Amino acid sequence: MKIPCNIIRDLLPLYIDRIESDESREAIKEHMKFCPDCRKYYKSIRRALSITTVDQLTAEPNDYIKISRKIRKRRALYAGSGALLLMGTLAYTIYSMISQPKAINKSKQES
Ligand SMILES: [Zn+2]
Repeated sequence: MKIPCNIIRDLLPLYIDRIESDESREAIKEHMKFCPDCRKYYKSIRRALSITTVDQLTAEPNDYIKISRKIRKRRALYAGSGALLLMGTLAYTIYSMISQPKAINKSKQES
């Protein structure tokens, strides 16, 4: 009996969770013997599912580290750009303080 690939693939999550019927299990096994595409698909979803379970077990500390690293990076970036902005503003203020009297003098001379 030949079962279409899409039906096998629909059943694969059940096959991985071992909640499918014996008949389905046999059919899936038989199909995968001859179908490299479904074997590949089976491996990929099994990997995805196992990653999910590992993630669920270790998600919080890992995510926490990742997130705190991201926040730290972002904070450093903000602090850096903030300092740059401050320096820019300061430089502009100093520049305008230096150049303004000249401008005033110039306009005084002109008028
Ligand atoms: Zn197939």
